Amino acid sequence: MREPAGGPRVLLKRLRELTAEPLEPQARLDRIVREIAGNMVAEVCSLYVLRADHVLELFATQGLNPSAVHRAQLRLGEGLVGTIAASARPLNLSDAQGHPAFQYLPETGEEIYHSFLGVPVLRAGRTLGVLVVQNRTMRSYLDEELEALETVAMLIAEMIATGDLARLNRPGVELDLKRPQTFAGVAFNDGVGLGHVVLHEPRVVVTNLLAEDTEAELKRLSEAVGTLRLSIDDMLSRREVAFEGEHRAVLEAYRMFANDAGWVRRLEEAARNGLSAEAAVEKVQSDMRARMMHVTDPYLRERMSDFDDLANRLLRQLMGRGPEQIAADLPRDAIVVARAMGAAELLDYPRERLRGLVLEDGAATSHVVIVARAMGIPVAGQVRGAVSMAENGDAAIVDGEDGRVHLRPQPDVEAAYAEKVRFRARRQAMYRELRDRPSVSKDGVAIDLMMNAGLAVDLPQLDESGAGGIGLFRTELQFMVAATFPRAEAQERLYREVLDAARGRSVTFRTLDIGGDKVLPYFSTETTEENPALGWRAIRLTLDRPALLRTQVRALLKAAGGRELRVMLPMVTEIGEIAQAREMIDREVRHLSRFGYELPMSLKIGAMLEVPALMWQLDELMKAVDFVSVGSNDLFQFVMAVDRGNTLVADRFDPLSTPFLRVLKQIADAGKRNGTPVTLCGELAGKPISAMALFGVGFRSVSMSAASIGPVKAMLAQLDIAELGQLCAERMANPAMGSARDVLIAHAAEHGIAL
Ligand code: PEP
Ligand code: MG
Repeated sequence: MREPAGGPRVLLKRLRELTAEPLEPQARLDRIVREIAGNMVAEVCSLYVLRADHVLELFATQGLNPSAVHRAQLRLGEGLVGTIAASARPLNLSDAQGHPAFQYLPETGEEIYHSFLGVPVLRAGRTLGVLVVQNRTMRSYLDEELEALETVAMLIAEMIATGDLARLNRPGVELDLKRPQTFAGVAFNDGVGLGHVVLHEPRVVVTNLLAEDTEAELKRLSEAVGTLRLSIDDMLSRREVAFEGEHRAVLEAYRMFANDAGWVRRLEEAARNGLSAEAAVEKVQSDMRARMMHVTDPYLRERMSDFDDLANRLLRQLMGRGPEQIAADLPRDAIVVARAMGAAELLDYPRERLRGLVLEDGAATSHVVIVARAMGIPVAGQVRGAVSMAENGDAAIVDGEDGRVHLRPQPDVEAAYAEKVRFRARRQAMYRELRDRPSVSKDGVAIDLMMNAGLAVDLPQLDESGAGGIGLFRTELQFMVAATFPRAEAQERLYREVLDAARGRSVTFRTLDIGGDKVLPYFSTETTEENPALGWRAIRLTLDRPALLRTQVRALLKAAGGRELRVMLPMVTEIGEIAQAREMIDREVRHLSRFGYELPMSLKIGAMLEVPALMWQLDELMKAVDFVSVGSNDLFQFVMAVDRGNTLVADRFDPLSTPFLRVLKQIADAGKRNGTPVTLCGELAGKPISAMALFGVGFRSVSMSAASIGPVKAMLAQLDIAELGQLCAERMANPAMGSARDVLIAHAAEHGIAL
């Protein structure tokens, strides 16, 4: 066995020259394997590429039988090559044939070679192929040789990823990188989006793989690591509230990793082997991702993600890629793919270019999802593996109806979705036509159709949807997307903006409804609650922390100077709570008036009906307030004792069942009896079938997400409310307590009502 001739740096230089030569792809590949074999003093060098059908195909060889090229094949997991690809780990064997996985391929003539070194061809932790060298003698390859082969494999990964080898496929056979994939995620926001992948926190695509001057690259690397460490120390030393708790723990982990001697050593080794500083970061990261691919421990996976973030930071540092550049490169139909994302980060993307959002983590209640919903972007969450399987620019479809994500979809899938999008667009066009028509039933009953909102991004939808006003403005959203408590001025500014956008239409501001599932990262309570939905939340919390409520009320009063102000209290349980809140509001009114502020033209105070206890104080409640709004999301969960966020039980009972319809009817009747306006602002109002039931039991005002106004208005136009009221009354008198859903569906079908 001779010493390697020239080492990896010389080899990389040769390969770079080869990639620049005007050669046909196959000829280039043949030359590359010959160069590698020569440089590494191996008798054989072969490249296997992973196809979409999970077969590894021999694409080029020096030393094996040339006629085996594009004929020799192994399935993923089969033989030594298949084992390397499946495990994403190298194999270094002095006697390959003694390995249990060895499989003899007669067409290659490889039986005379004993020692074997194979490495996965990796890109962003994905295996794209396998690169192998073999020798006749039984020898063990040195660590440096393994490192050299891995470095060369990176260059080949780049060739595969840039599509250089795709032309070598037989027709109908796709490389794995282009394999269509479907992920089953969870639907977080309705809608269908077709577009092209934009990786949030993009894996920076390294284009200058090879170093001109190794010493210079080592210096760049060391400087970048130094700056990275300083920036993390800097973040940690800022004593902002936002960096306490979990945020701080993540930063501490970053600091630990950034100072990890092993990580830095591996980076330097890769650069010493001839890679540019950027490519060195990518190589070390890709190796690590591949090794960690099968780890399921959530803690370790989380740490892995931290490492990923850190490597990305380092790459961006080295390449000088800031957010401006990323925005400039954004396609017109972006499907943003992220591991996780803060709500504010989503707002950095221009809305008109966003077609969908894919999250590896997330929950329907996570802040970013709330914002995406407000922006009307389809969202699929818990889409595991999406980030490493997607490349910037890949075609993608997000199905927000069922949570599926199609990556690089087949033409028939794309065609089916294009049809679905057209169908939805036609429906939207129909709703737009209805926008300026009054919302009245077929028999002339006028119904207020209002929309729910919570952020400034919702406001354009007020005009677009044709809503009569904002029936529920969730003020807590501003608090949830912020890093610290929004200051009084910021609150006032938002409320003023909302009232300006409403141009005289009614707006109901709900006071802070935090607690329960609505957590503020910067506001932690001392005790963890066992049942947060039944705990210290909404008005209970704000009455206990009067400074919070006072600041908010003052901001509302100032913003509404000269206009009508409607304030609604969430999660009221006792009438006394309303009196307490009213007292505080009155005090603020007196305070502002003393200082000469213009006061609201009129002030209306209402309560949400979410807690069943109010059902036995209905007349007192109606007298204590100017209006009542049923929060059916919470009311239903408390009446039925089902956690609204628990998928095991959330859909177990039907809100259209007789008991719950009776609850709703009693509320509507009490409103009429006392002359107090009653509305409903939970999700129930947004589905045409349940909106129909609400009108049937006596509701004449409802508030829902902006996207639901069109469908509900269309249904209403075909509905005879008197006839429906009759049907509901008969149904509720019926001792069979089942759901009225079927009866309502049949009624709709019979009368040509679109649900
Ligand atoms: C409700 O409970 O129905 C409601 C509108 O409030 P939220 O969904 O914000 O808890
Ligand atoms: Mg509620």
